[in-house]
Amino acid sequence: MFNIFYQLLNEQKFADGGEVKTKKVIRRNLPINTEYKIIDSFYTGGISENPMSCDNCGKLIANVAVVENTDGDKYHVGMDCAETLSGIKDSLEFIATNNDFNEAKAIRAKINNAFKKYTNGKLEVKNLPDGSVKLEYEDEGNRTMVRVYVAKQWFNKFLPDYKNKISNKDKNDFYPKFDANYDFNFNFETLRNFVDGKKVNYIAPKEIKVGDYKAVVSHEPHTILNDDGKAITNDTYLQKLYDSSGKLINEDTYYMWRDIQHRIIWEINQYEFNNFNK
Ligand SMILES: [Zn+2]
Repeated sequence: MFNIFYQLLNEQKFADGGEVKTKKVIRRNLPINTEYKIIDSFYTGGISENPMSCDNCGKLIANVAVVENTDGDKYHVGMDCAETLSGIKDSLEFIATNNDFNEAKAIRAKINNAFKKYTNGKLEVKNLPDGSVKLEYEDEGNRTMVRVYVAKQWFNKFLPDYKNKISNKDKNDFYPKFDANYDFNFNFETLRNFVDGKKVNYIAPKEIKVGDYKAVVSHEPHTILNDDGKAITNDTYLQKLYDSSGKLINEDTYYMWRDIQHRIIWEINQYEFNNFNK
């Protein structure tokens, strides 16, 4: 993996004006006549569970910054040591890495506090179809005490200590193909049923391609069952979603044209997520 330097505090004795003083200095293992930058960072899982040794000072560390110098040499160091390396302290990467570690620490603290306060509660850690991981702590009355969503790549790097708590581990490697920035190459404004406050005609079925999928959206009166099981008819959007073989995989109705774009992405991701590792 990487070199572990067993470099502990050195006691350096030197004479000064006739009397002997003792000064503790931290031996630096990393070359100093070069510039560094942070190229990666991660949490090891904990200082007692899975510590690493700082390549610079030898201390045990859990928050690890991977730094690279101008010669291309890479080292694993703690943030205290990273800060002392030339080129790092005022860099955006240093600020961002500190933020990541602080955020992870805050999430850990929230969960630990909830565990202490509501001892009979339970923690749920779950992969979601949008590529995020949800961490939720509920007390024994199923009230949510903590709920956070983090991106999976971020979770893997900064909260790996919760990885074994994931309830749907079979979805650990799932990453959605489509996100909110997906370019549909389709003008969703053409689906508006109100323009400048005036109702326009019902909208005939329109095809929207998303990768190998196809969504067909129309706007017309649709009859749906309300919560009491009564049939009610409303002007709604009907969205049908087909896979590459033309099989209908989802059908849903919405009131707002603005919802359609996100719903298409959500439904496709949900479908692929459900079928992942099946
Ligand atoms: Zn160090």
